[in-house]
Amino acid sequence: MAKSIGIDLGTTNSVAAIKKITTEVLKNSEGGLITPSCVTLKKKKFPFAKPEFVVGRNALEWMKQDPINTIVAVKRLMGRSYRDTDVQKIIQDKRLRYLIQRHSKGTENSLAILLAGKEYTPDEISSKILEKIRRDVEKSEGDDVEYAVITVPAYFNDKQKHATRTAAALTGLKVQRLLPEPTAAAISFGVGNIKDDDAKTVLVFDFGGGTFDISVLTISGGQFIEQGKGGDMWLGGEDIDQDLADYVLKETAKEYEIEDISAFIENQDALAKKQGQRNQFLAELKTQVEKAKIRLSAENEAFVEILGLLVDNDGDRIDVDVEISRKQFETLIAPMIAKTVELTRRVLDGIHFTPDLIDNVLLVGGSSNIPAVVKAMQELFGANKVHQHERPMLAVSEGAAILSHRLADTYECPKCGLEVSQSDINCSNCEFDLDKYKIDTGVLDIVHSAAHDYFICLENNEKFLFVEKNTPLPFTKSETFRLVNPEQRLIHMKFINTVNEVEESIGDLWLGIDSEYEEDDEPKAPGQVEITLNIDENNIIEVNAQLKTDTDNAETQSESQMTRTLSRGKADEKLFLELEKVITDANEAKYNKYVMLDLLYRSLAAVRDINMVIDPAKETVDESLYKRASLKIDKAQKMADQDESSMPAIFYAESLLDSFGSLISHKERKKIRKKMAYLKDMDENGNYQENVDALNDFRDSVNELGGVNTLMQVRKAGDICMQTDPGKANKYYRCIDDFIALFKKGEVDQASEKLRDIIPEVQELTMQFAQETSVIHKDIVK
Ligand code: ADP
Ligand code: MG
Repeated sequence: MAKSIGIDLGTTNSVAAIKKITTEVLKNSEGGLITPSCVTLKKKKFPFAKPEFVVGRNALEWMKQDPINTIVAVKRLMGRSYRDTDVQKIIQDKRLRYLIQRHSKGTENSLAILLAGKEYTPDEISSKILEKIRRDVEKSEGDDVEYAVITVPAYFNDKQKHATRTAAALTGLKVQRLLPEPTAAAISFGVGNIKDDDAKTVLVFDFGGGTFDISVLTISGGQFIEQGKGGDMWLGGEDIDQDLADYVLKETAKEYEIEDISAFIENQDALAKKQGQRNQFLAELKTQVEKAKIRLSAENEAFVEILGLLVDNDGDRIDVDVEISRKQFETLIAPMIAKTVELTRRVLDGIHFTPDLIDNVLLVGGSSNIPAVVKAMQELFGANKVHQHERPMLAVSEGAAILSHRLADTYECPKCGLEVSQSDINCSNCEFDLDKYKIDTGVLDIVHSAAHDYFICLENNEKFLFVEKNTPLPFTKSETFRLVNPEQRLIHMKFINTVNEVEESIGDLWLGIDSEYEEDDEPKAPGQVEITLNIDENNIIEVNAQLKTDTDNAETQSESQMTRTLSRGKADEKLFLELEKVITDANEAKYNKYVMLDLLYRSLAAVRDINMVIDPAKETVDESLYKRASLKIDKAQKMADQDESSMPAIFYAESLLDSFGSLISHKERKKIRKKMAYLKDMDENGNYQENVDALNDFRDSVNELGGVNTLMQVRKAGDICMQTDPGKANKYYRCIDDFIALFKKGEVDQASEKLRDIIPEVQELTMQFAQETSVIHKDIVK
């Protein structure tokens, strides 16, 4: 039977567990329970041998030799963009040796890690860790591992969760659930400690290596209800290590009277006349400092000693030998501890709880071993409420294993080992009471809650709160919005999250209203769109947008609706951003209405393509569609800039053939139609020059038609007057009828005479009209 397991995919450490009769944390192939989340690409000694990925303890060891090709804390980069200020901070931090850059094949948003000169995404690196875990479990269990519950920080946003899913998919693991880490810890705690008929509110305080996570849950009768969550994705043991390393360097500088210790260390390769000296020192510093920190959790003092790795300007050895007392250490980390207390209070405030409403505080994560952390929580909640998990670094994986067992279709009967299904009440072989067993030992249900506030942006960037943080999931809500202009053909819906008061875009959705356009059409839609947001228990958001029409016309309804999953797009997101910019710039440039009409049609065509660029099932990018959409946007911008517009020219010719086709020869009609078809093809597929050439050629042949163009102008004047001065419009329409009657009688001169008189005023009117400007509306309002 293929196994399902729980995986704590941590920033610093990863752990796998499985639930059989009891929950067991599984040993990796090196015999450890904890696998460092460290990945290196190890070059082979033989020339031409392919380098090999090494994960875990061995990779961590290898870091001293090759820090540039060794990756730690990749979780901090998951689902992040290169431009992120936090990512930029990591890049500028000199202690990090591996290289992060913009992904050459991705959008501006994507990021790559360089290993031996090759680009890898954080998802790919993370998948190497999952792969090792899976392989090790398969080896020790002697069975395939197919399913897993993978834990993620409660504070992960949708992009980060999505990246985690991708990492799992890359190793072929099927994700049963992405479970928030604190919830997993609460499951592991609750199952042993909270009686069935108890209802308890537990605050989980997970202070690990890279992240700090808080969650408040109510546990009752096997149900885990998430009440509220918070934390900081950039706070953990790694930061403590850095502060401690800074302290050690400062003390060393004092002792040896080194003025600029950073520059001194930067310069070590040259001073020691040995390449890699500086990196080796920094790696050793990190290891020693972490050791000292861990020692300080149990002892009153610790030493950091690094001998023989630094030399001064004269080539003399500089040995690091610094003593730190627990008191000094606590002063050093006091600001960080204050921050964890403040964030804990913030979570309580957010759900209108006070500390006395919390029954238990559960401390998990390696950094919650620090006595000062325990003390701070005891001061906030009272000593008797604070529980340090017996296995603070394993609790999360245990909870994940329990849920994984619960979610598997089948499991082994705890009494006789027969494969039984989740719906079985008794074992068919030994009659064992499976239902009672599940209630006694398991988790029956988890009610997840929204990790953030979800907003949609309205006109003028006003925000509308769609789903409030902590709303129980899954959740569906529909809201109707008005279009800024009932006639608008484009609808741009922009969704954002707020995470600790900072806005994050989680995706855009564009809807094009593609019904056939006729110049004199009355607007069909009353200008409303119904948007439905559906968030599942993994916080994955699906949006449905449906245009509401007045005329219950089923056909238009189905044309103007779409559903998609947000936070997936990478390639499409980039295109939408470009399109948005083109439209915004054109609206500001105040182009004339013909140019804007053309731009609108080009935008609609681009939106049609962009919405198909990513295959929703496989999430692959259709490269040829991507190129075409990109070309369309580029062309739209150039054509507008150059005052070139083909759509109005096409409408004009269609209307001309419709009304006055009988006045021109069959051959001419055919020629116009042919050129029109070619122009449409170039609008869709041609490059800028081909498109402009087709347009000019088409315009020339329309102009060659001569007199009918004058009739078109007169009619246009009539149409314009219909809006402003209907009485006068008749004068123009009558003139056309008279002309046609005389023309058909063969009285050509007289017919021309009729026109000549009104031409100047017609020209004046149409010229004025052509200069009017317009804008493209795409926003919605509540
Ligand atoms: P993560 O879940 O982020 O991977 P863990 O919960 O595994 O992190 O915790 C790892 C962090 O805990 C590391 O920074 C490690 O140095 C720190 N840590 C582990 N044990 C102790 C201890 N006894 N005292 C202080 N810090 C510790
Ligand atoms: Mg953790």
